[in-house]
Amino acid sequence: MNMQSNSETDVVIIGAGVVGASIALELQRSGRTVLVVDKGESVGGGSTSASSALIRFNYSTRSGVVAAWESFHRWKAWEEHLGYVDGPVAQFHPLSMILLEPPNFDRSSYLEHFNELGIPFEELGENDLSEKYPMFNTGRFWPPCLPNDEHFFEDAEEKLGGFFVPSGGFIDDPQLAAQNLMDAARHFGAKVSLRTSVVAIEKDQDKVVGVRLDNGEIIKSSIVINAAGPWSSYINDLAGVSETMGMSTRGMRQEVHALPASEEFNFIDNPVMVGDLDLGFYTRPQPGGTLIVGGVEADCDPAVWIDDPDSDSPTPSIESWESLVWRLAKRVPEVSVPNRPTGLASHYDVTPDWTPIYDRTDLEGFYVACGTSGNQFKNAPLIGHLMNELISACESGHDHDADPVQVHCSLVNETVDLGTFSRNRKPVAGTGTVLG
Ligand SMILES: Cc1cc2nc3c(=O)[nH]c(=O)nc-3n(C[C@H](O)[C@H](O)[C@H](O)COP(=O)(O)OP(=O)(O)OC[C@H]3O[C@@H](n4cnc5c(N)ncnc54)[C@H](O)[C@@H]3O)c2cc1C
Repeated sequence: MNMQSNSETDVVIIGAGVVGASIALELQRSGRTVLVVDKGESVGGGSTSASSALIRFNYSTRSGVVAAWESFHRWKAWEEHLGYVDGPVAQFHPLSMILLEPPNFDRSSYLEHFNELGIPFEELGENDLSEKYPMFNTGRFWPPCLPNDEHFFEDAEEKLGGFFVPSGGFIDDPQLAAQNLMDAARHFGAKVSLRTSVVAIEKDQDKVVGVRLDNGEIIKSSIVINAAGPWSSYINDLAGVSETMGMSTRGMRQEVHALPASEEFNFIDNPVMVGDLDLGFYTRPQPGGTLIVGGVEADCDPAVWIDDPDSDSPTPSIESWESLVWRLAKRVPEVSVPNRPTGLASHYDVTPDWTPIYDRTDLEGFYVACGTSGNQFKNAPLIGHLMNELISACESGHDHDADPVQVHCSLVNETVDLGTFSRNRKPVAGTGTVLG
């Protein structure tokens, strides 16, 4: 193949979000030369910058729980994890979590993993929940509906219990977290090219040999990683691997709204994050006196699929605002509802089973870290390690498809089975929501 190459590197990572930055750090630190290209203006400026950045552990697979539990420990030692810091760093804020479940919700899969891994939790009966959190209306309102539904303002006839997890938290500035990872990667030698779009994947028969950029330049590389977030399906199409993957990815519009915290539920008093599957939202307090609220794929909130995130409006909509904020106000009656949206709109990169894909592909040297399904910011400290182990094994000839790579997580002394995140897995039987 006749390729006009302007430069060469061991690895090209497409995407400088938190996923690409995490991979850049670990690959560069392990001795490979890394170039990260991103079409945006800044590191972490894609969907990462919109993240609610919640850190929790309830996932449907054991490896999902292990990854979140290991990452939690890495966030707590963030500067040590980075190995290099220059300037401000993203802050981890500890917060407990309560999960309010719909009728007949099967929490046994979480509980089994929590018990095995020693993750503390408490099951709160209906009286415990209302005593511990008197600012919440603990009525069962299921199924979630919109404020214009005739049943919306009806009182509940039953009360809810909950599932309480004392550990967890959030990161105050998700974009800064991505920048911290990338600054460390650069310190160890990685190169980053912003305002640079990948427009083609160069191949020689069934091997990747580089990428072509929008300025016509070709970067030669035998390893290319798709970390393009909500744009990942386009990159997989460019590589010609979409048809050979059992799992697909697709952009989904998501809005997160902010409103003033109430006197009794805020960052100082009763700080707790809530996953409310009964009313179909999640919320957490922010430092500075606000609450943020997002959706959890309730049937009353239609899914908005977006094939080209660049064509979508970043302005939050009145419909989503009213729907989410009024449902929050049902649970927290003291909250006051402003009359116009203040929030953001961005995109998840969703797989059919809401579980990410961290895998090789049928195109040799082309790897994917995508389909993060609105729930992988929390795993950013670990994703680079997972991909580094995967790539090292595959590049030395290991047949990962037949014998999935097992990755040791040193802080919790547990193992992630990378087969869980395979492109060709049997779909995970999970919640079918952002909770995974
Ligand atoms: C509203 C919202 C709330 C969320 N809340 C949480 C949460 O509470 N907890 C949690 O764990 N997760 C959460 N997530 C999910 C989490 O934020 C994402 O999983 C994560 O940030 C994805 O990072 P990424 O690097 O894959 O994608 P991105 O940050 O989107 O980065 C992808 C990058 O690829 C670049 N790119 C795309 N195409 C090209 C191209 N052709 N050439 C060059 N560059 C390209 C883009 O410019 C972009 O910068 C949330 C996500 C959203 C949208």
